[in-house]
Amino acid sequence: MSTRCARSEETKRKIGLANKGKVRSTEVRENLSEKMKIIVCGSSNPMFGKTHSIEARKKIRLARLGCQHNPNTIMKMKVNNIGERNPRWLGGISRLPYPFEFDKELRKSIFERDSFRCQLCEEDFDLMPHHIDYDKMNIDEDNLITLCRKCNSRVNTNREYWIEYFRNKLKQEKEECVLYRE
Ligand SMILES: [Zn+2]
Repeated sequence: MSTRCARSEETKRKIGLANKGKVRSTEVRENLSEKMKIIVCGSSNPMFGKTHSIEARKKIRLARLGCQHNPNTIMKMKVNNIGERNPRWLGGISRLPYPFEFDKELRKSIFERDSFRCQLCEEDFDLMPHHIDYDKMNIDEDNLITLCRKCNSRVNTNREYWIEYFRNKLKQEKEECVLYRE
């Protein structure tokens, strides 16, 4: 039996659609994975013993990157995503200067309150205060929390979730603090 797949693109597409959302049993998955090994490994692989030309390699790389646009198109895409055209545009607040009071002292007091640790991953270096409501003008201590650089960029998506998360976290800590004092 040949291990090469001779189905047409159209047929493959139909099979793909039909299989969408189906959950395969472990047995079926193991079976498939064994079959895939046979197909792509060793002499069964159509590329066995051959090498791709530089041009072909370039094409494969681009296809894997999901980027086959020419430089002109890329430029157009960039221009169309700048500022107000970007779906995540928040009104240009990232360019606003920090309020004057947001100085070293305030940073330090936030870091101290949070024990000089990222409040997500516990990291203790590359720390920065994060504005819980993403409003850089809001320098209320309840709106600031210590994060490491990594986590700070991580919380840039799914903002509503993180606002809720950090507000609850601070509230909880405050309550615990009061209990402790009593
Ligand atoms: Zn972190």
